[in-house]
Amino acid sequence: ATPAATMVGTTIGARNGVLFKGGDVLERAKDVDTVVFDKTGTLTDGEMELTDVVVVAGAADGGALAPSPPLTDDEVLRLAATAERGSEHPLARAVVDGARARGIDVGGAEDFENVPGHGVRATVDGEAVLVGNRKLLRDEGIDPSPAAETMERLESEGKTAMLVARVPADAADGAGELVGVVATADTVKGSSKAAVSALRDRGVDVMLLTGDNERTARAVAEAVGIDPANVRAEVLPEDKSDAVEAIQDEGRRVMMVGDGVNDAPALAVAYVGCAIGSGTDVAIEAADVTLMRDDPLDVAKAIRVSDATLAKVQ
Ligand code: ADP
Ligand code: MG
Repeated sequence: ATPAATMVGTTIGARNGVLFKGGDVLERAKDVDTVVFDKTGTLTDGEMELTDVVVVAGAADGGALAPSPPLTDDEVLRLAATAERGSEHPLARAVVDGARARGIDVGGAEDFENVPGHGVRATVDGEAVLVGNRKLLRDEGIDPSPAAETMERLESEGKTAMLVARVPADAADGAGELVGVVATADTVKGSSKAAVSALRDRGVDVMLLTGDNERTARAVAEAVGIDPANVRAEVLPEDKSDAVEAIQDEGRRVMMVGDGVNDAPALAVAYVGCAIGSGTDVAIEAADVTLMRDDPLDVAKAIRVSDATLAKVQ
């Protein structure tokens, strides 16, 4: 495109809250054939709230340990919130805020440890407490299956369900027990569905990439009109850029849309990286396009601006 065309395009974009980082990005955007959305904070508003606390009764470690009497749901929540206090993760904040809103006194934990993409572990009242996904528990030798039905029910509702387990101080090596499940939910943004259909109307394929579990991801995909075959779930933070590269290796030109710190490497490897709205500074820095508003419809707008300006001036 001529410098004049580039200037017109970037100006029109900026007026619409779409910031292109340079003329070559403006030219590339029209050739995007696949948009990959991050889930949390991108298609959803990212404001997680605690929705459920479920006690999983008598779930011991397969016999090595006599099952302790089940806790109350407030006790399960207190353990989870205390262990999560050291985490900055939106899930952790939802659990802590939810506990406080129920009048639970959330204490301080020791030996806090973050397990990226899986959860947290910390010492609460002298016991190790784990809060996270199935893999987190399995890696500690704790069987998550007594909570399987509860987890599946919550996940099919699009919620992120987290297992809560503890390892009593007097337990034999590695003998832990599952005590319950806490779940959080996040609201799908009002325009996410319209954004997906606007892109599909243009012939752009739409995908979902998330660290969250398959069932939750599919429930959100269904709510916004993304094909279940286009869902890539349980992708670890450090694997998101590889996932984008794998899609591009199929010969697709990918626009990756995300808001989080986790997303920066994926934004950087994408044909076009797009940071949305309330995005973190890291995401904005890694991106080629920044959407000033928190509106997924602006993704289609970015492609349209690129298309229209270049078509008109050439
Ligand atoms: P996302 O891609 O949605 O930002 P992450 O990669 O951060 O997700 O986390 C993936 C999964 O790991 C979460 O859905 C959750 O099951 C688990 N997880 C991560 N951090 C925490 C935490 N602080 N507490 C409990 N579970 C967590
Ligand atoms: Mg995220």
